[in-house]
Amino acid sequence: MKVLVVNCGSSSLKYQVINSETEEVEAKGLCERIGIDGRLVYQPTGGEKETTEAPMPTHNEAIQMVLDALVNPKTGILKSLDEIEAIGHRVLHGGAKLTASCIIDDSVKAVIRECFDLGPLHNPANLMGIEACQKLMPGKPNVAVFDTSFHQTMPPKAYRYAIPTKYYDKYAIRKYGFHGTSHKFVSKETIKYLGLDPDNSKVIVAHLGNGASISAVLNGKCADTSMGLTPLEGLIMGTRSGDLDPAVLEYLCNHEKIDITEMLRILNKESGVFALSDNLGSDFRDLEDAMNEGNEAAGLAIDAFAYRVAKYIGSYVAAMNGVDAITFTGGIGENAGLVRGKVLSYLGYLGIQIDEEANKKRGETFVLSSADSKVKVIVLPTNEELAICRDTVELVTAAK
Ligand code: ADP
Repeated sequence: MKVLVVNCGSSSLKYQVINSETEEVEAKGLCERIGIDGRLVYQPTGGEKETTEAPMPTHNEAIQMVLDALVNPKTGILKSLDEIEAIGHRVLHGGAKLTASCIIDDSVKAVIRECFDLGPLHNPANLMGIEACQKLMPGKPNVAVFDTSFHQTMPPKAYRYAIPTKYYDKYAIRKYGFHGTSHKFVSKETIKYLGLDPDNSKVIVAHLGNGASISAVLNGKCADTSMGLTPLEGLIMGTRSGDLDPAVLEYLCNHEKIDITEMLRILNKESGVFALSDNLGSDFRDLEDAMNEGNEAAGLAIDAFAYRVAKYIGSYVAAMNGVDAITFTGGIGENAGLVRGKVLSYLGYLGIQIDEEANKKRGETFVLSSADSKVKVIVLPTNEELAICRDTVELVTAAK
């Protein structure tokens, strides 16, 4: 089955066509600057990458351009759109109601809409992508795969905030967690790769990218995760602060005469390693180069990032009363040996030994811990699009 996987942002859209039998990507690309001007990037596997500038006032025009590129007689990978049997959509927030991937109908769209408040940047764009696909490919099944659903197995002691219950009852204020598609995919693949018993396993997944989160996966189910009501909580990220004392917000709002919206913008867009490195950047390649040239702020940013990851790992070992495997994934987890080494330097008490030679590798699946390490540590590239494709095929096949 050929599946179109769509990941809509507010002004961008990433897509892949995946053949579910071979699990190979047949074409991929993105639309950028939707609502501004518009640019399509289309890359058929094994072919030339093409970039086309064209007006994209809404996600409708963007998806239409993707579909036109896919059936282009010269460079398209499809003879006709009929070859696409289903569309899988990444959706940020499914709230507490949508606890698993599902085929999209009006009731699912209504819940995605109800969650606009919880995912104001992503959910409206996700719904636009869904409606554009429904309009342009009528009759094809659309599946929603939520960033939040894998975390719905967390117990109340992990997801409740210690604030008055009326806020939970009234507004469902609680920890939801994100990157769930990645945490599910990577924890499952880790269990397979290491031959662990799925029903008796303790895995910690550190998804370290521009956005970063970590989760404790007990017997294949999420027991805890670092992101919260929104993706701002938890680890230090590229430009997000992660955990901090909420009283900092009041102090800065009062002293800097800024409102809470501006404060949240600063915590989301101007904080994290970007801020700790004195605005040098949020890309770890730049931070590492600067640190090697003696830039102390860049060194502090990397150290603080790794320290926070190590602290979370320690707390999740406590949450699960042990750990069998720790997996690094995401752009930083897959590529930055320096960060992995710094994180693991805190974990000697777990009997973890690092294979320094292996730690030089990047971008592939490999074991990072040495043979005598008590806990296995691996690197395993995430593949959220493939995970969305797999869920889509499973649901669509079951519904036939
Ligand atoms: P997201 O999906 O959250 O945007 P990614 O998972 O793609 O982010 O991670 C992107 C980040 O990965 C970059 O900002 C950079 O910090 C880091 N990264 C990518 N390649 C390397 C590399 N070779 N060495 C160190 N860091 C890298």
